[in-house]
Amino acid sequence: MTRETKGLRLTNTLTRAKEDFFPIDASNVRMYVCGPTVYDFAHIGNARPVIVFDVLYRLLRHLYGADHVTYVRNITDVDDKINARALRDFGDDIAAGKLTLNEAIRRVTEKTADQFHKDVKALGCLPPTFEPRATEFVLARPDGKTDMVSLIQSLIERGHAYEAAGEVLFDTASMPDYGQLSKRPLDEQQAGARVAVDTHKKNPQDFVLWKLSSPEEPGWDSPWGQEAWTAAGWTGKPKGRPGWHIECSAMSAAYLGEVFDIHGGGLDLIFPHHENEIAQSRCAHGTSVMANYWLHNGFLQVEGQKMSKSLGNFFTIHELLETENFGGREWPGEVLRLAMLMTHYREPIDFAVRKLEEAENTLRKWKRAADLAEGSAAVPDEVIAELCDDLSTYSAFQVLTQLAGEALEGDKAAAASLRGALEFLGFDVSAEVDKAAVDEAIAARLAFIRDKNWGEADRIRDELLARGVQLKDGKDPASGERITTWEVKR
Ligand SMILES: [Zn+2]
Repeated sequence: MTRETKGLRLTNTLTRAKEDFFPIDASNVRMYVCGPTVYDFAHIGNARPVIVFDVLYRLLRHLYGADHVTYVRNITDVDDKINARALRDFGDDIAAGKLTLNEAIRRVTEKTADQFHKDVKALGCLPPTFEPRATEFVLARPDGKTDMVSLIQSLIERGHAYEAAGEVLFDTASMPDYGQLSKRPLDEQQAGARVAVDTHKKNPQDFVLWKLSSPEEPGWDSPWGQEAWTAAGWTGKPKGRPGWHIECSAMSAAYLGEVFDIHGGGLDLIFPHHENEIAQSRCAHGTSVMANYWLHNGFLQVEGQKMSKSLGNFFTIHELLETENFGGREWPGEVLRLAMLMTHYREPIDFAVRKLEEAENTLRKWKRAADLAEGSAAVPDEVIAELCDDLSTYSAFQVLTQLAGEALEGDKAAAASLRGALEFLGFDVSAEVDKAAVDEAIAARLAFIRDKNWGEADRIRDELLARGVQLKDGKDPASGERITTWEVKR
């Protein structure tokens, strides 16, 4: 195996160090990122990993080739929060026998997943290569891809899981190095444990792989829990559903194999979610790692405070895009995208109106400069080099600002490079005309005309034409005043 680096360095949570990135197989670089639980519209904190790992995905495609990167982001469509939401929204229909709980759940998850797709598209994110839904990976599949029940079965067979009180639990004591990612070794956890221990658990850290469902709850035919099912007075075969963590172990193995390159998500997922994913995958497959590089983005605050519904500063992506709830106006998706990337992904970010305004001004300047290009050039090496340094988006943006300055001074090559860089980073420079900027230019031209400064007025007209905007002068029939309309000619 060749160990050739393309210059990419990433901070690995497993080692707490910035490391050279070596893919297991350069012809198929593999990345998994934990996706949304589809019970409610995604909030702006959820947008951060989606945007950050989209930039990493674009960078990997640039370095290794677009056909040589596999990016998997799951959709969690089985979760008790989803059940609760379905009961809240469709409780009356369910009680009246118009809908079953499972049908209500499907309505909740489909609506929420659709909105999520609209949101992330507006944020300029590429769709991942695969976007599996958890419910499709619970039972053994006809295509033989890894499923949750088989994974739990092998954990039991290998002595890493046990059945108790209708649940299947992961036996943390069976894994001597449990806790490496979060640096919470088991002995420390035990020493500090003050939480009441569930009596059926061997150890307080043991976590649920599978639990029994009641006949009313969503459930799948369960190989476990017959005794508890019967004891509860229910007839026939038991039904059960997976715990929180097992789905990611199953779906990552299904698409990326037992060991893959990069696993990403928000900082809040390190413990317990990612720690437990690692425990499940490593113990089920008998491997020494699950993924070689673990990347985590930092927390997000809103206007200096932790985002929470009770503080009234909880915002969904949809609200920022389509309502005036944040700062009294709607925000374009790419302004959100740029604002999110102005802070290094590992640092905490304070999401504020001021930050969005700053991003909007920057983006407007970049686009004005990129519009001067006659075509786009390849993304400049300096931009790639900054991104290769642990996704230093802030430094990459400084290169863009420099290119914009050069472009506005008439450097066509700089304009073309800037355009290429913006396209690469997921900003739309295609045929987009900045309407506000055109209106501004028209107002300036009208002022020059009033001053009989024909030279300046013509210069503005020609500049707009070079950007594909054709002006039409006319007179308002009522007032007789000069009016200027425009259309895009490309
Ligand atoms: Zn996950």
